[in-house]
Formats: sequence, structure tokens, C-alpha cells
Amino acid sequence: MARYDAEAARLDALHRYDVLDSGPEESFDRITRLAQLAVGTPTVLISLIDRDRQWFKSRIGLDAAEGPRATSFCSHAIEQDTALIVADALAHPTFHDHPAVLGDPHVRFYAGVPLRTPDGFNIGTLCAVDYAPRELAPQQLAVLHDLARLVVDELELRRLATTDSLTGLLTRRAFAAEAAREVARASRTGRPLACIAFDIDHFKSINDRHGHAAGDRVLQAVAAVCRRHLRAVDVAGRLGGEEFAILLPEADRAAAGEVAERLRAALEAAELAQGEGAIRVTASFGVGALRPDERSADPVLERADAAAYAAKREGRNRVRLGD
Ligand code: GH3
Ligand code: MG
Ligand code: MG
Repeated sequence: MARYDAEAARLDALHRYDVLDSGPEESFDRITRLAQLAVGTPTVLISLIDRDRQWFKSRIGLDAAEGPRATSFCSHAIEQDTALIVADALAHPTFHDHPAVLGDPHVRFYAGVPLRTPDGFNIGTLCAVDYAPRELAPQQLAVLHDLARLVVDELELRRLATTDSLTGLLTRRAFAAEAAREVARASRTGRPLACIAFDIDHFKSINDRHGHAAGDRVLQAVAAVCRRHLRAVDVAGRLGGEEFAILLPEADRAAAGEVAERLRAALEAAELAQGEGAIRVTASFGVGALRPDERSADPVLERADAAAYAAKREGRNRVRLGD
């Protein structure tokens, strides 16, 4: 059970980079080219270990974009804290009868450095593979270690650029990009898509009464309430100071309205932070849904926003469905 939990946490750490199945990118290809220059093997890979597959963000000397985890050297490499170096697989106690050694692609040499996230999860490797035995000089290994750090730094910078630092939700820009992707998917599949927009009521008075720092803690707590009430496929963003939005794939207007009502009630009931006494807030919610002919997320967000403002005008702490 403990093992399962550790693996689930590792997969969460991988998935929060949102990189699997993305296209090739120069920033990562540059790193594999440098690794190849340093080590001299025909194959160099940035390999990410998903639940049952290894998927390559960058690859030199290999056609396949992914392979099964079960026959992956990298899956072994991420089990350890240091690099896994196999100078000659045929002479190695663990790998001599490995399917990738006895069969295609006939791996003989493997050097894989774990890609370790700042919070300590090995999400994959930067690895060099050869089809003949070879030795790795200490300087070459040191370069691989540095380049592996650069891979994680690049992933981490991208993640930070899309994450609001106070709440951990998506920034306005990242939310818009995600919304565009979801609209494209919904119009391809014909499935529904809805959006909730909400704005905290009288938030200025929270700051005035309890101070800006307490206001910040309330915003964090609001984000936490959202996370608790959403499914894994839902996407939450902080669009501005105390304005939030949530995309709900597969939900129509009525279903999104029910989610909004649950969120509204949960917010109203929660003690969000301590200021001068417990701090509570309410929020005004609007719901918009994608129309069959729409190809852009903007009108959906606008209808959700307009409905949230209608909820404000009608007295706050309520949900309004947009048209
Ligand atoms: P309404 O019910 O009409 O929405 O009233 P309101 O007070 O929530 O709305 P208003 O737009 O007048 O004020 C929003 C306030 O949110 C003002 C601003 O100081 C505060 N705010 C915006 N961003 C942050 C933040 O990051 N931290 C804190 N503590 N306050 C913020
Ligand atoms: Mg506002
Ligand atoms: Mg407000």
C-alpha cells in the first residue's frame, strides 16, 4: 500500500508538468544534442515514466515515441537516487536476459540519470544508450547530471509560468490556453463543456478589516475549497484578484449549475482563515455553456461572467445560469 501511494504521488508530480504527448521542442532537443556530444552514444533520450509506458520528450537515434514501461531500463533507473550505469548489459546480473537486450533494440550500454523534481520525485531519466559495450568517464557522467538538472529546470519554469503563485491555480493566460484546448476537444467529440465564473463578495472589506495578509490566506483557502469539489478533469484558474473560473468538460449548463451551487454552499459554510476572529466569505457565481456552433471559449466565459454579475446585482451569494 505504501508503495502504491508513493507511485501515485510520483505520477501526480509527473502529470502536473502537463508534458506527456506534447510535441518536440527545441529547448529539450538542445539538451539531448549536448548529451550526445558529451557521451557519444548513438541514442540519447529524455524519457518520462508514466504509469505503464515510457514516453520520450526528446529522442536522438530512436524512431518510437514511446514504449512499454515493463521493458524499460529507465523504469529501473528511477528506482534509485543515483545514475544507473550498465557498461555491458550481457554481463550484468539484472539485465543480461532483459527483452531489450536479447531482442530489439539489443541494448548493451545504458546510462540513465534520474530527472528529480524539486520535491524529490523521479519522473524519468536523461539517458544514453549504445548497442555495444562502453565505459563512461566521470566527466561524461557529470555532464549528464548537469543536463538532467536542466531538463527539470525547464519543466519547472514552464509550470511556474502557468501557475498563480498565491493559489496554485492556473493564471489567466494558462486558463485561456486550456479553455481553447477544451473547446477544440468538445467540438471534435460533440460532448458538452461548461464554465463557472465567480467573484468573492465584498472582498475589499475582508482586507480592510483583517489586513491584506489575511485576505491572501482567504484566497488560498477559496482555491483549496475549489480543488476539493472538482473532478480531476476540471480546470480552475484565478482570472484576477478575487475572480475565479472553472472549466467543466462533459458538463452541460444544468450540471455545471449544480457544481456551482455545491461550491457556493461549501464556501458559505467554511471558516477560511483566522483574522480578527474566523473569516467567512461568500461569492457570486455565473454559469455559461458551450453552444454547438461555437469554436471559441471567449463567448462561454463572457456568458458565465455576465451571469456572475447578474448574481451580484440580485444580492450576491447565489448562482445564476447564463443563457
Ligand atoms: P463585490 O462584492 O462587488 O465583488 O465587492 P468586492 O469588494 O469583492 O470587489 P472590489 O472589486 O471592489 O474589490 C476587490 C478587492 O480585492 C480589492 C483588492 O484590494 C482585493 N484584492 C485583489 N487581489 C488581491 C490579492 O491578491 N490579495 C488580497 N489580499 N486582496 C486582493
Ligand atoms: Mg472583482
Ligand atoms: Mg468581489
